[in-house]
Amino acid sequence: MNKEILQNISVLYVEDEIEVREFTSKLLSSLVKKVHSAENGLEGLDLFKLNINEIDLIVTDINMPKMDGLEMCSLIRELNKDIPIVITSAHNDPSFLKKAINVGVSTYAMKPIDLYQLVESMIKAIEPIYLKRKLEEMNISLETRVDNEIQKIKSILDSQDNIVLLSNKTTIKNVNKRFLEFFNITSIEEFINTSKNIFDYFIEDYGFISKSILKDYPCYYEYIKSLKEVNRIVKMKNLNDEERIFTINIDNYDDVNDFYVLSLTDVTELKEKSNLLEYQASHDNLTGLYNRNKFNSLFEKEIRRGIRYDNELSLVLFDIDFFKKVNDEHGHQAGDEVLKEIANIVSKSVREHDTVVRWGGEEFLILLPETNAEGSRVVAEKIRSTIYENSLTALNLNVTASFGVCAIKEDDTGSSFISRTDEALYEAKRTGRNKVVVK
Ligand code: GH3
Ligand code: MG
Ligand code: MG
Repeated sequence: MNKEILQNISVLYVEDEIEVREFTSKLLSSLVKKVHSAENGLEGLDLFKLNINEIDLIVTDINMPKMDGLEMCSLIRELNKDIPIVITSAHNDPSFLKKAINVGVSTYAMKPIDLYQLVESMIKAIEPIYLKRKLEEMNISLETRVDNEIQKIKSILDSQDNIVLLSNKTTIKNVNKRFLEFFNITSIEEFINTSKNIFDYFIEDYGFISKSILKDYPCYYEYIKSLKEVNRIVKMKNLNDEERIFTINIDNYDDVNDFYVLSLTDVTELKEKSNLLEYQASHDNLTGLYNRNKFNSLFEKEIRRGIRYDNELSLVLFDIDFFKKVNDEHGHQAGDEVLKEIANIVSKSVREHDTVVRWGGEEFLILLPETNAEGSRVVAEKIRSTIYENSLTALNLNVTASFGVCAIKEDDTGSSFISRTDEALYEAKRTGRNKVVVK
């Protein structure tokens, strides 16, 4: 006997014979949570109405004064169509049984009451409801647990500073708060309206992963994984046209369904900084021209090329005349302005493939590939005359510069090539300044 089922139920017990009622009630009380007993159908109906949310099972006699059990049951049915009903009766003629079936009686216990049979009937009647209720409880607790887990995962995702999204291959399935913030939207649906595919937001740019690169790979997951971390970068624009740089990381979340978790870390500032560092390492910060470092790395290559392919290659080295005086008379700042303006003049006077370098304080060097001495002399002369003919800076300073020009020779090394150019410049200084000397 499954007593556990009975332990948690409340029973409405209706019986007009006082001895039977008291005896049976007492016994039922020891088995169930609560027994509400009534002595006729009318009282039973009232008790049921009073305890409508509590009563789980009805056990009733049929023949009773005032209102019989079946009448009571049919009225109770109108209030609760599912409550199980057990009837106890000495009657078992077909008309009773038919009526009993009509009011939806669950089981039948014969009178005189065999208590064992009654309890068994009660269990049989309550069991389906009990099991249904248990299942519902289990479902609810399962749903709450799943909900709790989802909430937990969501709060972890939302606490991420990175943009995180879950995608089924390329279609976005879920995103975190940071994602919505970056795209300045309130829901993922808003985003999906524009495009479901996150790769549509990757901007095409040199060195960045973009849609056109990814389309060449059957599995973008493997492609991205195969890249070195420094190369896993994408550029994205949000709906406000704000462009940021992200490193992209990807994990396989579910093998079978091809679910991936993509995590995008904003590295815009870091990238800008590293670009800046790279820039600073190769440029002079006053004039923005290349510095010696950069020149050295280019020069060796150009010399090798020049010698191997018999290409012409020239250098122009020039130095501002009496620059010390500019500083002394007008201040260091005016001197800086002069240097910047001269850098501008030079940049405008050379071709794209020429390299202009701030060689020293007020010395500039130009490397001219595929240019012979005469070609370089023309360039130098153009720069010399521009400087000479224009008064520089707001102070209208008249400045001149002296130039040494030299073309590479077959047996030159880098240093011999520069030395000869330096000699040419020295000669220009020595022989009057504001002139171009070719060596
Ligand atoms: P010369 O005609 O013989 O070249 O005479 P000079 O005065 O130009 O040559 P010198 O080498 O005696 O002096 C160069 C001056 O250039 C001295 C230095 O203070 C100045 N100078 C070097 N770098 C800078 C700079 O970045 N800014 C300014 N304002 N002056 C600089
Ligand atoms: Mg000088
Ligand atoms: Mg000098």
